[in-house]
Amino acid sequence: MSDIEDSKILSEYSSRDKWLRELFSFSNSTSFSVSPYFCFAMDQIGDEVIYPGSCFDDVTEKTNICFLQCRKLGFGGNAFIRDNPKRIIFLCQETFDYFLKNGEYQEAQNIITHELIHWIDLNRNFDFLDQDKLFCSEFRARILSGQCPDYYTGSNTLLNRIFNNYEQCALDGALSSMKSVDSKFKNWKPSQDLIEKCKND
Ligand SMILES: [Zn+2]
Repeated sequence: MSDIEDSKILSEYSSRDKWLRELFSFSNSTSFSVSPYFCFAMDQIGDEVIYPGSCFDDVTEKTNICFLQCRKLGFGGNAFIRDNPKRIIFLCQETFDYFLKNGEYQEAQNIITHELIHWIDLNRNFDFLDQDKLFCSEFRARILSGQCPDYYTGSNTLLNRIFNNYEQCALDGALSSMKSVDSKFKNWKPSQDLIEKCKND
């Protein structure tokens, strides 16, 4: 690899990394607006500290969120969370490079917030091997991350039906996430009871 290519990768890494550190620094002077969904999730995380770092950091380091070249590893999603050997959020750098290059900071934050909701559910002892719990967490992560926004808040029934499709959006998103986790969920559907339970969780 040439020096020019090397330095290009280094500077790209730096700006992506810089943005992530800025997001978790809670300074009021971020160069982009911090999403209310992100703030809500960080509030729920409480005293725990999220440390941006490198995925190559040693397991004993504090790093618990980092960028990963997912496509090289054959993962087609945007991010994922692992609890072993320690809890860590992996962000797919291909996705983030695209959003950050285009100034789509909200979309980038929504993906991180989605993983933070999973983090919170793990703190609440959700067992993701339990399909109902996995579904609830995916459903909650869609709604509470801003990935399924509620567009209309008025009282017109027709407009409500047209615009407020966040529940369907969360359902579709949760099912597609589950399918990508394990193909055994290909034909799995939650009961209406379960959906209501997750909504009110
Ligand atoms: Zn998820």
